Amino acid sequence: MVLMSVIRYCVIIGFVMKELLKKLIRAEPTGDKGELTAAKVLAAYLSGCGVDCRIDKWQDCRANLIAHIKSNGQRDALLFGAHLDVVPAGGGEWKLPPFEGIEADGRIFGRGAADMKGALASLAAAIEEVVQSGAELKGDLILAATAGEETDSCGAKRFIEADAADLPKPAGVIVTEPTDFQVASCHRGMLWLEVSTIGKSAHGSMPHLGINAIELMNSLLSRLEDYQPTYSQHPLLGKCSVSINQIHGGKAVNIVPDRCSVKIDIRTLPDQNHPGIISDLETICAELKENDPRFEADIATIKSVPALQTDTEGEFASSFCQTIGASGTGKVDFATDGPFFAESGAPIVIFGPGKPGACHQPNEYIDIADLDKGRQLYKKIILKFLT
Ligand SMILES: [Zn+2]
Repeated sequence: MVLMSVIRYCVIIGFVMKELLKKLIRAEPTGDKGELTAAKVLAAYLSGCGVDCRIDKWQDCRANLIAHIKSNGQRDALLFGAHLDVVPAGGGEWKLPPFEGIEADGRIFGRGAADMKGALASLAAAIEEVVQSGAELKGDLILAATAGEETDSCGAKRFIEADAADLPKPAGVIVTEPTDFQVASCHRGMLWLEVSTIGKSAHGSMPHLGINAIELMNSLLSRLEDYQPTYSQHPLLGKCSVSINQIHGGKAVNIVPDRCSVKIDIRTLPDQNHPGIISDLETICAELKENDPRFEADIATIKSVPALQTDTEGEFASSFCQTIGASGTGKVDFATDGPFFAESGAPIVIFGPGKPGACHQPNEYIDIADLDKGRQLYKKIILKFLT
């Protein structure tokens, strides 16, 4: 009889979790459309379980959701950091519509299924189970489901600046990115810059009356070819890389271009700082101007996420690994909101269901078995740290 009711309960929670995931995919929370609908879907689910939820809304459609279960305060809190937004469907061959959350072949398909609506559904179901179990929490459980991780991390920055101070300091933060259940404690940072040279337009038949921004860019590119930021190689993360991946200049074949821009993707290591790299580029531009007074350039930051290197020897990471049966922590190849959550001073682990290879791809999916495993492991983690 007890076994039957346990089986029945697992079937119900599994069904509810899948439905939540489908609704989150249907919310289509791309950077353009905003996260408000997804935040409301998640808030409705968690409020329905009796969890205190607050939606922080800005610019009409951007939103963070902060869910908080208070405790008797005998232990430190646990913070889950998740992102609500997804990348757009993009081109490529989708066999199923990207924003319908369709279940087929033991998987749920849709943009964000792996990155990271799946983890949100697993975690919400785990929270529901903990609440329903009546377990007395000794530390607060906080979920920060944030906006804009895929673009400018606006939600995580806003949460740390505006909300974190009023919440209890966590013993650790779990960033629920899809790691296929591997535990990661570090990743390279991401510094995306747009460097533009500024010239003066003129008729193409009288180039001496203008200043050709493409020619200015040419001299800058020759300098950048030899530029390598200072760093020491990291045992897990390897080297810093610099790659110029986009160039744009000129309006027509008969107009001297007044502007030429390149976009540079720099992946950084924990011992580097992004302002230092920007300052190196400013120095290069200043030297070019010394040689050629016509040289003008400006540097704009498109995105800056520092590298993450968290404490792997401490109590939190080792206890986390022990709880889920992992032998240790590794790295992830993508950047996360982890460095912003790390500003709280708490150690960070990155851990979640979903195959990293499925993310940002057409036909993104999550295995339903992984959703269920995620639910069980998140529940285990909550009970380990908070009861
Ligand atoms: Zn993600």
